[in-house]
Amino acid sequence: MKKYFIKNLSNKYPTKDITEDDIKSKLPLSTSKKVKYKVNIGNNIIFGLKNIPVIAGPNGVESHKLMDQVAKCLVKNNIKIIRGHAYKPLTFPYRSSQYKESKNTGMDIMDSIKKKYKLKVVTEITELQYLDRVCKTADILQIGSRNMQNLELLREVALTRKPIILKRHFGASLRDLLGAAEHILIEGNKKLILCERGVSIPHTHRNTSRFALDIQAIPALKEITNLPIISDPSHASFWASWVPSLTYASIAAGCDGLIIEIHKDPKNSAVDPLQPLNFSQFNKLIKNSKLVAKSVGRKV
Ligand code: PEP
Ligand code: MN
Repeated sequence: MKKYFIKNLSNKYPTKDITEDDIKSKLPLSTSKKVKYKVNIGNNIIFGLKNIPVIAGPNGVESHKLMDQVAKCLVKNNIKIIRGHAYKPLTFPYRSSQYKESKNTGMDIMDSIKKKYKLKVVTEITELQYLDRVCKTADILQIGSRNMQNLELLREVALTRKPIILKRHFGASLRDLLGAAEHILIEGNKKLILCERGVSIPHTHRNTSRFALDIQAIPALKEITNLPIISDPSHASFWASWVPSLTYASIAAGCDGLIIEIHKDPKNSAVDPLQPLNFSQFNKLIKNSKLVAKSVGRKV
């Protein structure tokens, strides 16, 4: 197709970091400072303004009861976006029955919770075969880190015209992330939110901390792109008790939104039981986040 063809584009000197040449010829849409990318998902929720929208919920849509409890906790905190996956990639292929994806049943649960509590829904799209069902309910489609460079998925998801959260792969450079973003933008979908969710590095005394939140990625990306950047401290640290500090650091670093994993009973979460905050920890996190945000001229 013509739009993919740029005359005289060479790739003689591929680099790790973004160059002037990338900005001119390879990343012109994602690094354009002319476009103010503000992602409006309705109900006065806009990513990319002074307000920092919070997305929270469990990893998976385990049951109607759990999602109902989570939704009540969100409403109490004036949080308007619920998350939960019905389709879910895992690091290993083995699953217990508790681990099983809830698939269409999970999407039906999300649908009824969305209507009952007037919440917006974020859920992950893992494969094109689920796209129609996911689009019926989701207000934002999440491309998970493991799919960041699944280019066919990026293209088809872009063509739905829905808002998208593109998660940075834990081994990807910012150049790779923006390259993936470019694949979405070139399809004409500007409702794109980038998400920093931690990178793989050897670190710390805890083997339960899987990734390191790349806080520096937030100001670094802000220097070169106008796309909203949100932070997911839960998937980065994998360790609930570190989530509050990383949340506050993300706000201070200039993030435009947050993803926080929460569960009514974390130790019995079907997936990643060390990671979610319980409801009282979440209430405290939101209270403190408001103070941190205020101190840097933002609002939670
Ligand atoms: C998630 O959001 O539940 C998730 C698995 O995220 P990531 O793709 O960042 O690992
Ligand atoms: Mn998760």
